[in-house]
Amino acid sequence: MDYNKLKEAVITEIDKLAEEMKAVAKAIHEKPEIGYQEYEASRLLCGFLEKNDFKVKRNIAGMETAFAASYPEKADGPTIALLAEYDALPGLGHGCGHNLIGTASVGAAVGLSKVLPKLKGRIAVMGCPAEEAGIDNAGGKVRLIKKGSFKDIDAAFIFHPFPMTTVGGETTTLLGLEFNFKGNPAHAAGNPWDGINALDGVLLTFNAINALRQHIRDGVRIHGIITHGGDAPNIVPEKASARFFLRTENKESLLEIIQKVKACAEGAATATGTKLEVNTFCNLYDSMKSNSVLASILEKNLNALGLSVEGRKKGKGSTDFGNVTRVVPACELGLRLGNGIVPHTREFLHAANSEEGFKVMMQGAKVLALSALDLLYSDGLLEKAKKEFEGVQKCNSTKVQKEK
Ligand SMILES: [Zn+2]
Ligand SMILES: [Zn+2]
Repeated sequence: MDYNKLKEAVITEIDKLAEEMKAVAKAIHEKPEIGYQEYEASRLLCGFLEKNDFKVKRNIAGMETAFAASYPEKADGPTIALLAEYDALPGLGHGCGHNLIGTASVGAAVGLSKVLPKLKGRIAVMGCPAEEAGIDNAGGKVRLIKKGSFKDIDAAFIFHPFPMTTVGGETTTLLGLEFNFKGNPAHAAGNPWDGINALDGVLLTFNAINALRQHIRDGVRIHGIITHGGDAPNIVPEKASARFFLRTENKESLLEIIQKVKACAEGAATATGTKLEVNTFCNLYDSMKSNSVLASILEKNLNALGLSVEGRKKGKGSTDFGNVTRVVPACELGLRLGNGIVPHTREFLHAANSEEGFKVMMQGAKVLALSALDLLYSDGLLEKAKKEFEGVQKCNSTKVQKEK
């Protein structure tokens, strides 16, 4: 079959899935599950894939809701992975639109699989739990990478609904730090002098970090919440805890900020006489290093659907897809959802369960499938992407050696 016919066939196959995809995206939206608890979402997506002859491995890399799907199970050619996310935000449901992400990747893979026997190679869907970093051990992709789940993958794509249409771009690194202060309880009115106030440790940490803000580089983000502030106003708080996210442009500056923020908490512990315990609560999210060859493939296919890039992503957000871009050639597609609305808001939550949201999801599925098709079909394209990736890897390792 000639190339243009193949492309038309992929689009026709994805269009045939529209109603089913919409039903899956709706169901995931209406039963939001936070990271590592996405049992229903993962069941729906795996079921969709299995029904369409994909071989699905569930419960992988020590995560019950992670999965790896492949069609065919084995092939001589390369493996192109489409990544699925399907976790919700605590308290805000699918305010990041991950119901559309998981379903788009699955729909794209199934649509493409219908023409795949005519190609050499394999299409994979990686089910990646817990992208939202607010929960313990978040960063499903980081854990998949650590367990070797990406070692047979030659290139990876993901789609995300976004405030503008874009390919690639930049994200920041991210680490979650938790500070647990321990003091001594006492009657807050009767004998407060016998108490050691753990909450004061937390409050002074916030104040010290706020003082630090004037002396940090542009683009660094430090934001936190109090996760425990005591048990009753008439007891001097024995225990108090806070969680912070630290985000910077690169790993080197992240390490620097970690030290400074830790020093704020240590100072607070000294001032209050409390004991301090410091933990990291999520995996380190690396910044995104988009592959420019894959970015241009995504852009070409966007244009083929009558869409165009509206701007470059240079957000202060972070994603564990950044870690994926460090181990395989990879690129993210962002498609505009709504007009001037941003993820993690009620407006975005509603848009992710609207006709417009489902339309964007279908467009995302088509661009992903056509781009995977390009890599499997066009001679030399994947090699070009890999060559650029190896160049970046080499450049990174000499940089690290120099810094040692
Ligand atoms: Zn999000
Ligand atoms: Zn997201």
